[in-house]
Amino acid sequence: MSQRVFNFSPGPATLPEPVLREAGRALLDWQGQGAGVAEVSHRGAAFMAMAAAVEARLRRLLAIPEDYAVLFMQGGATLQQALVPLNLAAAGARADYLITGHWGQVALQQAAPYVDAHVVASAAPDFCAVPPASGWQLSAKAAYLHVTANETIHGVELNQRIQAPCPLVADFSSSIASRPIEVADYGLIYAGAQKNLGPAGITVVIVRRALLAREGQRRAPILDYRAHLARESMLNTPPTLNWYLLGLYLEWLESEGGVAAFATRHAQRSARLYAALDGSGGFYRNRVEKSVRSRINVPFFLPDAALEARFLAEAEQRGLVGLKGHKAVGGIRASLYNALPDTAVETLIDFMQEFCRHHG
Ligand code: PMP
Repeated sequence: MSQRVFNFSPGPATLPEPVLREAGRALLDWQGQGAGVAEVSHRGAAFMAMAAAVEARLRRLLAIPEDYAVLFMQGGATLQQALVPLNLAAAGARADYLITGHWGQVALQQAAPYVDAHVVASAAPDFCAVPPASGWQLSAKAAYLHVTANETIHGVELNQRIQAPCPLVADFSSSIASRPIEVADYGLIYAGAQKNLGPAGITVVIVRRALLAREGQRRAPILDYRAHLARESMLNTPPTLNWYLLGLYLEWLESEGGVAAFATRHAQRSARLYAALDGSGGFYRNRVEKSVRSRINVPFFLPDAALEARFLAEAEQRGLVGLKGHKAVGGIRASLYNALPDTAVETLIDFMQEFCRHHG
């Protein structure tokens, strides 16, 4: 097998090696059944037991209170951005949105056909800061306030406790399980798995049960959280392999010390990377206000596009891949998700310092 690279991809992202090894075996033969995990019925006893164990583990890892339901769904975070207004707001009702980057804007677009979507504050067009809470134009009666916990493209992370007069809905796609959070602060949390929890194709939804009593809007059962909950996320055929991989990933997170251990790791290694950027005499530049710099996605720029192209090519020769910035902002972006080893970050920093010495 070729050597595995240090994969800084923004998602789908690197997975833990022990997970991949175990999954390789389970694809051929799962639990001695003579059939692989992707080849057995989701209604079989083995799969049902596994699914229940995955939920229990996620509840333990994230300290999810009993009065919250957990759903495993398809359609990515983007589908959730449409399901949230359909399920939590009456047709045309007011819903508040805080816009701190690209994904907040997408959430707003997805909700616009269903609600009176109101921007309480926006950091557009630069997305380098979070507008101060004192200036947010919160609606008197909003169905919910939607925020993006970590803006994957712009590298802006919310790190304040938000006080809202309505339920808080948060997109945690790129920062779930990267530090402990108080689930009770939120009405609903959603996150695609493909960055910090597993492969693409499965999305976690954590929702206060009381909110599911809201009537929401006219919608098909497949778009209704209550229908999914009633059938334990098996309203239709679930993405069985992805669910299994998510479970292995959670097992690995626990074996590595759980979410608190990852919080320490993320704090330390992102601080080292930002120190390298800031200590480069202006060769590398991150434009985000220091207090809201993301611990998870670190975008930065070099003096010009030609140097950036060269940086990416030379990085790749060192086995450092997935570093190209999103097309919306350009430049470089290092995504430091849970499964990325600390040595990857150290190797990147060494390479950056060397590249700066040669080209700075
Ligand atoms: N929200 C955030 C914060 C994201 O990073 C992404 C994907 N990069 C999305 C939403 C969209 O996720 P999906 O492609 O799973 O729909």
